[in-house]
Amino acid sequence: MENSIENKTETVLFVIVPCYNEEKVLPITSELLLKEIRYLAEKEKISDKSRILFVDDGSTDSTWGIIKNLSIEDRHYIGISLSRNRGHQNAILAGLMEVKDKCDISITIDCDGQDDIEAVEKMVDAYLQGYDVVYGVRNERKKDSVFKRSSAQLFYKVLNKLGAEVIYNHADYRLLSKRVLEEFSNYREVNLFIRGLIPLIGFKSTSVFYERQERLAGKSHYPIGKMAGLAFDGITSLSIAPVRMIIWLGFIVSLFSFIGIIWVIIGALMGNTVTGWASLICIVCFLGGIQILSIGVIGEYVGKIYMEAKHRPRYVIEERTFDENGD
Ligand code: UDP
Ligand code: MG
Repeated sequence: MENSIENKTETVLFVIVPCYNEEKVLPITSELLLKEIRYLAEKEKISDKSRILFVDDGSTDSTWGIIKNLSIEDRHYIGISLSRNRGHQNAILAGLMEVKDKCDISITIDCDGQDDIEAVEKMVDAYLQGYDVVYGVRNERKKDSVFKRSSAQLFYKVLNKLGAEVIYNHADYRLLSKRVLEEFSNYREVNLFIRGLIPLIGFKSTSVFYERQERLAGKSHYPIGKMAGLAFDGITSLSIAPVRMIIWLGFIVSLFSFIGIIWVIIGALMGNTVTGWASLICIVCFLGGIQILSIGVIGEYVGKIYMEAKHRPRYVIEERTFDENGD
């Protein structure tokens, strides 16, 4: 309960906003976020030293220019730009690691206005009540397309069935306290799926609910391919269940093969030695298929080990709108 003891107005909040080609929406969201920060500071829930950190994820449009201008306009705005596009998860990571020694709490929020900014206050309230992790959970997904909604629901179900703990209908809109950030910095994996890692860290957590809005402008950067990639990464980064399934599959196939062999031997002993070409081909194909599938899944894990073993930096910061060592 140490959170509630400290002077509440000293709580420094950093809002982290990953931005990739968001020139259309940035001017709108930045203003809304600043309003929220000012409002919370006035209410003395957070310190006026709170900041909004934009992470430019290698945008090719004028996003970085806009961020630099914002940082000149108002001291609450700051920004970092990554040297190239590294994807949503790495952009969030860069932001979180950048602020971990500067803030008491961080909130990650999408740039497109889909995450309801009003939930920020609810998150801060929950922190002040003593929670270290506050998940933003969508009430419903009416505004998402039927395909996006059903595929996302299937994804959560599969993940949970495979033993990875993920919060249903929670994406990357969440509050993390300083000590969670510190622990999170020890998770050094390259195949990053942040929403699967936070529950692993632990600490007291709760959820606040909000309605997912439509994008204010611009279009989604998560086409089917990228979404499937994230889902696949989520599953294989968090769970070794697919490997276990292969073992079971291998076991069952071996059992059937054993029964088949006994059947063939008995057939041969009884003089009934005519073996069907079709059944032979079926078995060959079946085993071939299973083997290729298994090699594929094992390959996926070997690939991941390969990537992890390299310990490559997960992002590179090219520029800052502020002095790294100053506040
Ligand atoms: N984003 C990013 N890097 C990327 C793709 C997206 O930083 O390579 C940001 C994007 O600017 C937005 C957030 O991640 O703030 C979520 O992306 P988007 O809204 O396109 O995804 P959706 O909400 O459709 O899933
Ligand atoms: Mg979006």
